[in-house]
Amino acid sequence: MRNEELLMRLTQTYGVSGHEQPVREIIEAEIRPLADEVMTDALGNLIAVCHGSSEGKRLMFAAHMDEIGLMVKKIEKSGLLRVCNVGWNWAASLYNARVRFMNGTVGVVGCMKEILESKNDIGELYIDIGAKDQTDAERMVHIGDVCGSYGPYLKMANDIVTAKTLDDRIGCFQLIEAMREKRNGRNECVYVFTVQEEVGCRGSRTAAARIQPDIGFAVDITPAHDTPCDLEGSNTVGQGIGIKYADPSVLCDGQVIDTMIACCTAGGIVWQPEVIDKGGTDASSMNLSGFGVRCSGISTVTRYPHSPGSAASLQDIEAGTRLISALKDAVFAF
Ligand SMILES: [Zn+2]
Repeated sequence: MRNEELLMRLTQTYGVSGHEQPVREIIEAEIRPLADEVMTDALGNLIAVCHGSSEGKRLMFAAHMDEIGLMVKKIEKSGLLRVCNVGWNWAASLYNARVRFMNGTVGVVGCMKEILESKNDIGELYIDIGAKDQTDAERMVHIGDVCGSYGPYLKMANDIVTAKTLDDRIGCFQLIEAMREKRNGRNECVYVFTVQEEVGCRGSRTAAARIQPDIGFAVDITPAHDTPCDLEGSNTVGQGIGIKYADPSVLCDGQVIDTMIACCTAGGIVWQPEVIDKGGTDASSMNLSGFGVRCSGISTVTRYPHSPGSAASLQDIEAGTRLISALKDAVFAF
């Protein structure tokens, strides 16, 4: 896949919700030469506009820069850190895993009791940074500091890659790569690298209010259903880019979906229908912004999401980039 090194770099960059600046800096350097206008709003959303023609629509593509993490709420006398959620964490995938703070401090997650007994209560977890006691810990970490998961970007078989934060550095990567592709530019395209999606789709809400798009696309990952897991559905890694029909937070627009499918057919882009019954994306905020916005999602199927070992197919990622690019010139029926 072209520019895979950029995807790797994005996954290795720190960007817990509310602290997206390191990710934003990398993206901004890539997109400045590709956009007509670039700005960062008060919440930290990075917004890039590429002008279209008078007969086109205004499209908003939203990919979130932030990743889930943990926030320190208390430092024990022992030097262990007690934490709360930033976004939705799965205690079992954090247990005994490594985390890293913005200043480089590294720790390992433990549990106050047997992990299964914690019943996914993040309040039962602690982080061991190797401190001797509270005073020692306070030299490195303070209450309110946040950490994210830690781990390398690695290749599995069959063009599947595994890394932390594929959710949603894949979407950020797809937007950048689609911006590079030259098209006629029928539609005005506003590429938004959003903040704070993981804590309730907050950045996309203010960005959509500013942009007032005709159509919104959440460019994000979606959980895979093709391995034994607690979810049921049809999402399959390697079977093409997901076109979102619905999730619990949004019902997607039929005419928009038809246009997306037509783009895939015309461009030979492999796609799969995407329906999930847990979770949500920035599509929800765009959908209910202003007087209402037609929406769908461009979703890369990802195994083990919200874990340091999430995994996705490079071919699916590339198909997503091609679909975004094709939508620049798409003609919508309304
Ligand atoms: Zn996401």
